[in-house]
Amino acid sequence: MPVVSGAPGTLDAPGAMAAAGHLQPAIGVSITQFSVIHALMSGLYDGVFPASQVLAAGGFGIGCGHALNGELVFVDGEIFRCTSDGSVSRVDESERVPFAEVSVFAPTLSTPLGGSGPLDRTGFESLVASLLPSRNLFYAIRVDGDFDRMLVREPIRQHHPFRPLLEVMQTQNENELGRTSGSLVGFWAPSIYQGISVAGFHLHYLDEGRSVGGHSLDYAISSGTLTMQAMSSLTVRLPHTPEFGAADFESIDDDLAIRRVEQSR
Ligand SMILES: [Zn+2]
Repeated sequence: MPVVSGAPGTLDAPGAMAAAGHLQPAIGVSITQFSVIHALMSGLYDGVFPASQVLAAGGFGIGCGHALNGELVFVDGEIFRCTSDGSVSRVDESERVPFAEVSVFAPTLSTPLGGSGPLDRTGFESLVASLLPSRNLFYAIRVDGDFDRMLVREPIRQHHPFRPLLEVMQTQNENELGRTSGSLVGFWAPSIYQGISVAGFHLHYLDEGRSVGGHSLDYAISSGTLTMQAMSSLTVRLPHTPEFGAADFESIDDDLAIRRVEQSR
């Protein structure tokens, strides 16, 4: 059983004015993941799970579109696709997605950000790390606020035969948004889940106007609110497809490859 310390109440951490609440996971609070990162690494980009099925498991989270057509952001029960032409569109619930990670977001901790000046990504990540009562649990993370800058990635739609993700990501579209207001949503995962999920932070961005976004690579927060929730279980739904059954996940040097795929070029 994971050891979870940190009593409910007020915490102090650098960069956060005062965090109110707690990060004790309630029983049955689950992240539901559809497929595994290794499947994407291997080039399994065909949509498998109907978006309606993913939404039924949670309206908060991240994913990618069929054939890597855009990064998906699940926010407030709606799914948005951020594509390589820099646009955002709604995802039809009948569309099948190859990968998604979602939860029902009911934050238990909240803290204002930016009280002592802008927070860059490294500063934000250390702040969140300082709030975690245990590094053995998953956490859902959301920041609503104003950003001095935001660097996002949107993958370019792929066509068969699919190449491995590491190769495809050499041609990813990176988009520097500058000043923007919106939401960062996603998860923090313990390092032992690298390959199933992405170890550490995996956050996607969607602006307030729902007009631009993507996989967040770098940012600076000028002000905003961080809300979080600890998760007590992980459900992984595996694709029932011949491609998934036949894929060779054992030859992937997961840690290095995944870290390269998740970062900027
Ligand atoms: Zn992503």
